Amino acid sequence: MVNVRYAIRDLAVVAEEVARQGHKLLYLNIGDPNKYDFVTPPHMVEAAHRAMLDNRNGYGDSLGLPEAVKAIRDQAERNGFQNIQGIYVGYGSGEVIDSSLTALLNPGDNVLTPSPEYPLYSAVLAKLNAEPNAYALDEENDWQPDLEDMERRINSRTRAILIINPNNPTGAVYSRQTLERVADMARRHGLLILADEIYDKLVLDDDVQHTSIATIAPDLPVLTFNGISKAYLAPGWRIGWAVATGPQAALHDYLEAVYRLLRARLSAPHPFMYAIKPALEGPQDHLPEVRTKLRRRRDLTVEWAKRTPHVSLVAPRAAFYAFPQFDIPEPDLDFVTALVREKHVLLVHGSGFGQKPGTKHARIVYLPQEDVLKAAYERITEFVQERYK
Ligand code: PLP
Repeated sequence: MVNVRYAIRDLAVVAEEVARQGHKLLYLNIGDPNKYDFVTPPHMVEAAHRAMLDNRNGYGDSLGLPEAVKAIRDQAERNGFQNIQGIYVGYGSGEVIDSSLTALLNPGDNVLTPSPEYPLYSAVLAKLNAEPNAYALDEENDWQPDLEDMERRINSRTRAILIINPNNPTGAVYSRQTLERVADMARRHGLLILADEIYDKLVLDDDVQHTSIATIAPDLPVLTFNGISKAYLAPGWRIGWAVATGPQAALHDYLEAVYRLLRARLSAPHPFMYAIKPALEGPQDHLPEVRTKLRRRRDLTVEWAKRTPHVSLVAPRAAFYAFPQFDIPEPDLDFVTALVREKHVLLVHGSGFGQKPGTKHARIVYLPQEDVLKAAYERITEFVQERYK
């Protein structure tokens, strides 16, 4: 367990101490929309409530409620997914990712993971005694994956390539050309592709389009992860899923292994699975509202970075994260720790996500309301000016 870390929660311990001293904190650290001014669509709440009143409170189907699985399949097909070989629902995409990696890897195997990365993956990989093998995301190239670095890292124990698109923590969306090259690499080396697309409906700019890698590589085994935590504003319900596409021969035994794990843990939260179909097929009008709010908050963030010394930022195009670089003499963990102690603004240090050696970053969650964000940015600017005169 020494190697299992989750920086986002670790720093919260310092924050709790500061809060206990009576300070009001500004939280720009956790990707939970419901902690801010985002509310679960009522028709989803009604569906879950009705399921509870109807006593759907026992265990559910291990792989997912059939009507929910059908809704996920129909949506995937509408979005151009072909050769769907399996769909499974778990308690959050986090569990689905955990089970998918557990069934895939022997100790000593490795998965190509991005750096910076959403740290769930390295925590699970550490638990499985997988070897770390991180490829660089290139800040100089709008945080697109460094494909040469990716290919260089493939070895005889590499089993899969993970791409998080849209990305946490950078907010990048990958171009079709990049995805085609990743697919080509997976094809040449016989690797599974893991595509985390939990932010696919939160693209903020009209000139950017999200492409699912599964749709351009129907001949390859691909697991695409998604769920209701982000775009459907229900992270506490713990519902996520995987869609497995590609050749049946490559996926059959592997999926059976995943299903064995899922049967052993019985099921995802049963009543909440009744909200999946209404989420995917019911009114979607919360989505433009969410994107409009996020766009304004993103713009505020970009403007702040532009006018603040020691800060540079590749503008995020999706999700609700920014990953500015700080040109500072001290480690970024010291920076964010001092920031929360002195100015009561909570960010997460870049080293918690991985970053190019010598660079320093922090992850900002720009979900908070504009007045909170403005106040937080003012304090960070003040802090930087006072500290690095
Ligand atoms: N994948 C990414 C990229 C995330 O950012 C998150 C949560 O922040 C998750 C997966 C996990 O989401 P959940 O387990 O709530 O579905």
